[in-house]
Amino acid sequence: MEREGKKVLISGNTRCNLTNSRSLDDFILMYGKNGRFLHSAFRHFFSADLIELLGKHGIRTSAEQDGRVFPASGKSDDVVNALTSYMRENGVITITRSPVLNIELAGQGMMAVYTQDRTFRTGAVVMATGGASYPQTGSNGEGYRMAERLGHTIVKLRPSLVPLEVREKDQVRNLQGISLKDIRITSFACSADDIRPHLVPPVDTGRGIHGKRARTPVIESRTGALVFTHYGISGPAILLMSLAVADAMEKGPVSLTIDMVPGKDHRQLKEELRDEFSRHGTRYCHTILENMVPSRVAASLLKAAGTAADKTANQVTAVERENIVSRLKDFKFNVSRTRPLAEAMVTAGGVRIEEVNPRTMESKLINGLYLCGELLDIDADTGGFNLQAAFSTGYLAGESAARSK
Ligand SMILES: Cc1cc2nc3c(=O)[nH]c(=O)nc-3n(C[C@H](O)[C@H](O)[C@H](O)COP(=O)(O)OP(=O)(O)OC[C@H]3O[C@@H](n4cnc5c(N)ncnc54)[C@H](O)[C@@H]3O)c2cc1C
Repeated sequence: MEREGKKVLISGNTRCNLTNSRSLDDFILMYGKNGRFLHSAFRHFFSADLIELLGKHGIRTSAEQDGRVFPASGKSDDVVNALTSYMRENGVITITRSPVLNIELAGQGMMAVYTQDRTFRTGAVVMATGGASYPQTGSNGEGYRMAERLGHTIVKLRPSLVPLEVREKDQVRNLQGISLKDIRITSFACSADDIRPHLVPPVDTGRGIHGKRARTPVIESRTGALVFTHYGISGPAILLMSLAVADAMEKGPVSLTIDMVPGKDHRQLKEELRDEFSRHGTRYCHTILENMVPSRVAASLLKAAGTAADKTANQVTAVERENIVSRLKDFKFNVSRTRPLAEAMVTAGGVRIEEVNPRTMESKLINGLYLCGELLDIDADTGGFNLQAAFSTGYLAGESAARSK
């Protein structure tokens, strides 16, 4: 590309959530089953080391309540500038607009790195080519193909931290732009008609969360925020469960149910609504619902519950009220697919970690080849974990490569 760090520039909505203040054990949990691979890299260069390194280059950081760490300036370009000046100070030469096209073994422990107009012969190569999402930032997936040509296994690439499309297009189009906060969203490995709401767990389940795993057919359950889009649903809670959803969709239908009032159980909500409806009998029922959910959601719920929008509370039957409660607690959608890999924040899958030495990041197949960052089969939820994994594995790979020659 024309400059370094284009993905870092757009990260965290250009604020760059560069790491997290969690402990090492909690950090490792965020990467699922491959997290243990990162132990050595994190012991070598972890969040405090990153913060110190940036501090030496004039970047102050601040941690938010949930542990996410950002540059205090709120500007990702400050991070990229600090890193590039660190490189320059240490004599790193950057060649821009010059993609590597291939890497080949060149005999006698050497490798040949080909660009359009040059060939570099070297005993050590660090591949830090990133994933296959947001290709406009430079990570177009070519790194995976080069690693594969060198003999590495590529674990199937899947989108992670990606919005979901639903089959109920008309419904979400009507709700487009609306965000819901403090809701519980639960994904099920079945179609929406087969969702059994009593199976929705009372606590969050999913990657990075201590405690019990969700029981089939529940895939994951998260509380948080979501936003309706013209094609489906996005927002923090959806992004977090998207990889588990993508994996489950390989095996069969997947659906979602939204509990818009997770603080109250079905019975409590039913009683509350009955009292509200009898206290304000002459009010339109959608006016009463608007105290609980945004206006357009109230309209959509009433339609789904079969209640005419112009009914007053005293005209609503007990059966209709029961339907409204069910929709508030169990608003269902069928997932049709995830948005494409190019739109995912992170690529799951990549170079098989069993083929890489976790203490040095050197390939176990090719001496002198080092692999790091998103190119590896490592990915995590939001919170600064993906960048920290890239920084830690990159740091270790760089040091090991320098020491090897
Ligand atoms: C919108 C968005 C927001 C994000 N926000 C966050 C966040 O706030 N916190 C967080 O932790 N993570 C975030 N991520 C994820 C994080 O940015 C990545 O996981 C991280 O940048 C991966 O680092 P990397 O060095 O492995 O790859 P990249 O940062 O993708 O860098 C790869 C580099 O290799 C270059 N390259 C690729 N192929 C070639 C080639 N053939 N020849 C030469 N050069 C090549 C690219 O141009 C690029 O400079 C976000 C991702 C996106 C898309």
